[in-house]
Amino acid sequence: MSAQIIDGKAIAAKVREEVRQAVAKMKADTGYVPGLATVLVGDDTASSTYVRMKQKACAEAGIHSFGHTLPGSATQAEIEGLVAQLNDDPTVNGILVQLPLPDHIDEEAVLNTIDLEKDVDGFHPVNIGRLAMKGRDPLFVPCTPAGCMRLLKEAGVETSGAEAVIVGRSNIVGLPMAMLLQKANATVTICHSRTKDLAGHVRRADIVVAAIGRTEMITGDMIKPGAAVIDVGINRKEDASKKRGYRLVGDVAYESAAAVAGAITPVPGGVGPMTIALLMENTYRAAEIALSKK
Ligand code: NDP
Repeated sequence: MSAQIIDGKAIAAKVREEVRQAVAKMKADTGYVPGLATVLVGDDTASSTYVRMKQKACAEAGIHSFGHTLPGSATQAEIEGLVAQLNDDPTVNGILVQLPLPDHIDEEAVLNTIDLEKDVDGFHPVNIGRLAMKGRDPLFVPCTPAGCMRLLKEAGVETSGAEAVIVGRSNIVGLPMAMLLQKANATVTICHSRTKDLAGHVRRADIVVAAIGRTEMITGDMIKPGAAVIDVGINRKEDASKKRGYRLVGDVAYESAAAVAGAITPVPGGVGPMTIALLMENTYRAAEIALSKK
């Protein structure tokens, strides 16, 4: 068997084009342009790169972006003060605080400060709480898991009644992914570092989501024939043939898994591009919410 490759790059491009068109229509109909504020604290290279990528995606979608950078020594009050100011700014629809924040900062308190209707990352405890509850819906769903759900949908994977195994239980990926799949009527198992017999659990899964951060940990012999495999992991693997000395690989051993799976996301080019695309979609939705209140 040779798996269907779920092309995240192409699907993300489609989502971004949909958002671009919706933003253009909103502007033509109402004169309103969505705005995303980014808050970067400190000078971490990876975080700076992510913020730049998000600002570039905004420009391409026709969304205004407002970049705010605070020094790594910024206090809790300074960061929360900036968020409060952005909450009050009518030109800002979405507020993205780039994580992780420095160690001396209470991350949860900062996320709590974000206006629920501007929580485009979907990390506000109330949004996560609504995601966890039956019959309730959050205003925004965290972008990476929302992107994974969109990939499953585009690939035609049936979630209702499916056995889904999520490896990883982080607040930003594993946990919300499990809640989304459960809402989509899958029977969900969450595995983590204390799970006994990980392979046994994964082997039962019609849908496997790997969000571990461990290079190629899920191997083909752990995959049920025909399963859909979503690989969230982004890891560096030494590769002397590359100029930079490494290449990016996922949490799934791609070659061996693709030989057994029914559908699989590659790394790079799978889940990665979806995160920013869904952030654009969430920002557009935040603008719709703001407009509906005018
Ligand atoms: P975390 O480190 O926050 O969580 C990792 C999870 O994996 C934890 O729940 C941990 O268990 C579990 N785990 C660790 N080791 C094992 C093991 N040996 N067996 C089973 N479970 C294990 O990572 P994130 O969720 O933030 O990220 C996961 C991966 O996804 C990373 O590679 C990250 O780079 C990538 N990522 C990609 C994104 C994208 O846009 N494509 C966005 C965000 C993340 P425990 O809870 O017990 O510690």
